[in-house]
Parts: sequence; structure tokens; C-alpha cells
Amino acid sequence: MTNAPVIIWFRRDLRVEDNPALAAAHETKQPVIPLFILESESDSVPGAASRWWLHHALAALETRFADRGSRLILRTGPASDILPDLVKETGASQVFWNRRYGAGDIETDKALKTTLTDDGVSVESFNGTLVCEPWETKTGSGGFYKVYTPFWKSIKAKGPSRKEQATRPDKLAVPDTWPDSTALAALDLLPTKPDWAAKFPDWEPGEKGARAKLRAFLDGPVNGYDDDRNRPDIEGTSRLSPHLAWGEISPLQIWETTKDAVARGSVNDDEADKFLSEVVWRDFAYNLLYHYPDIRDEPIKPEFADFPWDDDRDALTAWQKGQTGYPIVDAGMRQLYDTGWMHNRVRMITASFLIKDLIIPWQEGERWFWDCLVDADLANNAASWQWVAGCGADAAPYFRIFNPVSQGEKFDPQGDYVRTYVPELAALPKKHIHKPWEAPDAILQEAGVTLGETYPKPIVDHGEARKLALAGYDQIRNK
Ligand code: FAD
Repeated sequence: MTNAPVIIWFRRDLRVEDNPALAAAHETKQPVIPLFILESESDSVPGAASRWWLHHALAALETRFADRGSRLILRTGPASDILPDLVKETGASQVFWNRRYGAGDIETDKALKTTLTDDGVSVESFNGTLVCEPWETKTGSGGFYKVYTPFWKSIKAKGPSRKEQATRPDKLAVPDTWPDSTALAALDLLPTKPDWAAKFPDWEPGEKGARAKLRAFLDGPVNGYDDDRNRPDIEGTSRLSPHLAWGEISPLQIWETTKDAVARGSVNDDEADKFLSEVVWRDFAYNLLYHYPDIRDEPIKPEFADFPWDDDRDALTAWQKGQTGYPIVDAGMRQLYDTGWMHNRVRMITASFLIKDLIIPWQEGERWFWDCLVDADLANNAASWQWVAGCGADAAPYFRIFNPVSQGEKFDPQGDYVRTYVPELAALPKKHIHKPWEAPDAILQEAGVTLGETYPKPIVDHGEARKLALAGYDQIRNK
């Protein structure tokens, strides 16, 4: 047996539990070098909020390795240079990683595999990210699913492709000499002037935080999930998304822990099913990314490339800053900026508003979310934007245009969500909080609201905007 080290290259799988690539590296019994590269070229170069998360996630992972008598090596630059250099420097004989699915990343990984294999280094990759690999779930005729419900039914019937979790190493063999590592602080991932992340809530990046979120969810909210998950004023969802986006918990861990809770009788079977079906939406998004590699830029329905979009930069800025004059939209956009996260229902409302009220291309929204979300995820973000825009696979039809007032009244019935993020409207009674422009002067005055001064008047008339959007759709739909 050789004593040459093996490298485990971490990407968006920042955990030691149920990590198939790490487990395989450990099983070689050779010294293990854990590596993370802050890549300058990748499909998933993190935006600002995700960089904040990444800093803390790497700090947590460093501790996990220190606890195991080991270290995490940090490097920056293109993986195509860094990895072969590190292999040469350390004399590593094997490299392990969990797979990723962006077209550019697949290409990078394939090229690396060829280069390293040609040099006599063995490379092995694993599924550490999805319930099932995109190529494993096929329709009856052997194609891939473009509609969600049969995709979910197929995965539900066969279960996760890995039948058991990978073993967590409790101690790792270490090399005689450690290669140099860049200090975490030198990666410069945190904002400084201004420190906009100071307002972020008590997120706990890392595996411990991920497990705590899952436990807290399964101990309570899951049993009302089917209804409450649509209510932004209630903590009715798991908030696991940033942990999943960075691979601090695997979908298999979520699947098995949820099923165990059902078996113990503490979680209702139907609610668990609903929750797992949402987790599998993530697989569906990766299935789309894999089969439509340009999903971030190009509409899956090609006719949408000719949509007569508007290019109103002021309107875009008003949307980004939560100054549209529509309270539920503004609350969502401010929640996003202030906390790095936004409730799913409000993501749909704000996205629909950008695309169908402001007639601004969905790609602009995708980019802004990418920069502001701590859970920014290549597949989920792009597939969801295309879904709302009506140009994706299994998308909501374009003519389904969310009414920001009735959506607010239905899903934030007391107006508490708006009051939290749009404090200048906090004193308005619930009857008027989602449409302050219809409130009588006396009520506005009593609530300290002066439209156009303390809070904007609506930047568009929803009814008129809707007609324009539908006219645009008419132009392309018969092409
Ligand atoms: P829960 O309801 O507790 O769901 C559990 C997990 O299932 C989530 O963490 C997520 O990983 C997955 N999931 C749930 N809903 C979806 C969905 N519709 N599509 C794909 N996966 C889902 N999610 C991201 O993780 N990253 C993104 O960048 C992202 N961008 C989005 C952009 C838009 C315009 C929209 C409408 C949705 C987007 N979503 C994105 C999906 C969804 O809003 C979030 O996953 C969800 O709000 C996360 O909250 P949670 O963890 O409490 O979800």
C-alpha cells in the first residue's frame, strides 16, 4: 500500500457527515488532504451574500477538520491550474470529489480528470448533492422529465439512489508535511465598508446549524407545512436552503431523518411527503440544468427570446431597493437585502412583478437574487425565474400574472410581514396595508404615511401593466 496522500476537493459539499467523496478518501487509509478552491472561473462563482455565508461555512469546516486532527487547505484561482499543481506538490496518488452539474463545471471536471489520469493519478467522483443523479430518472420512453409531478412520483417510488449514508470519519490520516494554505481572512469574503451583513439574522452556517434547522423544523412546523409554507408572516418552512446550497447537509440526510420521524410517529406522513416533494424540486431544477445547460441565460421556450422587454433602469432600481409602492413586493425585496433570504411565496410575487408589471427581463432578476441570496443556487434560481416568467419547463403559464394586492391580502392577511420589513407602513390597519393608495387621507395621516414622501406611490398601475404584459405575450406566442 502506498503512503502517498489523497486529495478530497470540496466544492458545494461543505460537510464531513454523509460525504461520499470524503468517506472514500478516508477508506484508502492514506493521508488525506482536504482542499477548497475559491474558483475564479466556475458556473457558481458566489455573489456577495453567498460569499458572506461561504466565509462562515469554511470556518465551520476548518473546525470539523481540526477536531479530526486534520486541516482544510484553502487556495484561490482556476481549479484547472490549482489542482494539478497541488497534486504535483504533494505527490498525491488519488483525487476524490462529489459531482457538480453546471455545463462549464462539468467541462472543467472532465478536463481535470483527463489531465490527472494521464499523469497516473486516479480520480473518482460521487453523488453527494442530489437525491438522484439527473441521468438516473427517465420517462417511460427513456427521455428526461419536463413536468414535475411524474418526476416526483418516479423518485418517490424508487427512493434516493444512495441507499445508505456515507460513513463520517472521526479521525483522518494526515500527510507528513502539509501544503501551504491561504488564510481564510485573506479570501476576503466578508463585506467591510459598509458591512451590510451586520443586519443578517442569526444564521448558523455549517453542519451544526444545518442539523439544528432540520431538527427544529421536524419538531414543529413540518406538521403544518402544507398550509403554512405559503405564509411569509409565519416561520412555516425549514430555512434549510443556504445549508443545502452549500452542501452542509445532504438531501439523503434530510430524506432519512424525515422518514425516521414519520416512523416514530412524530411527523405526519402527508406533511413529510409534501416537504420531501419540495426538496425534490431541487433535484428537478438540477435535472433541467443538466439537460438545458444555458438555463441561466436562455429561455427554455425559445419564443421568449423575442419578448418585447422594457429597459427601465429606474424601475429596476426601485424594485431592487423595495421602493415600488406595492407593500408586499417592497417587503420581500427588503427582506432579501436585509437578511439574505426571502420567503418562497414572496419570491414568486416579486419575480412576477419584475417580469410582468415592469416588463423587465427575468435574467435581471436572476442576477440580483444571485448577488443577494445566501442560498443562491445555480439550478434552483435559474429554473425558478424561468418558471415564474412562463418560459421554463413545466412553468406557470405566462398569462398567470400575480396581483400584488390580492396575493398580499391572501398570504399576509394581518399585514404583519409588511409591517416587519416596511416599518413606515406599520401603523396602517390591515384593511389598507396592502393598498395604501386606496386609504382615506385621515387614515394615512393617523398612520403617519404621506404617499410620495414617506412611502412611494405605486410606480406602475397593475391593471395597465398587466394589459401590456399580455400584449407582449401575444406578440410572441404564435411565432
Ligand atoms: P422549504 O420549503 O423548507 O423547502 C426545503 C428545501 O427544498 C429548500 O431548502 C430547497 O432546497 C428546496 N426547495 C423548496 N422549494 C423549491 C423550489 N421551488 N425550487 C427548488 N427547490 C426548492 N431556492 C434556492 O435554494 N436557491 C435559489 O437561488 C432560489 N431562487 C429562487 C428564485 C425564485 C424567483 C423563486 C420563485 C424561488 C427560488 N428558490 C430558490 C426556491 C425557493 O424559494 C427556496 O428554495 C425556498 O424558499 C427556501 O426556503 P426553505 O429552505 O425554508 O424551503
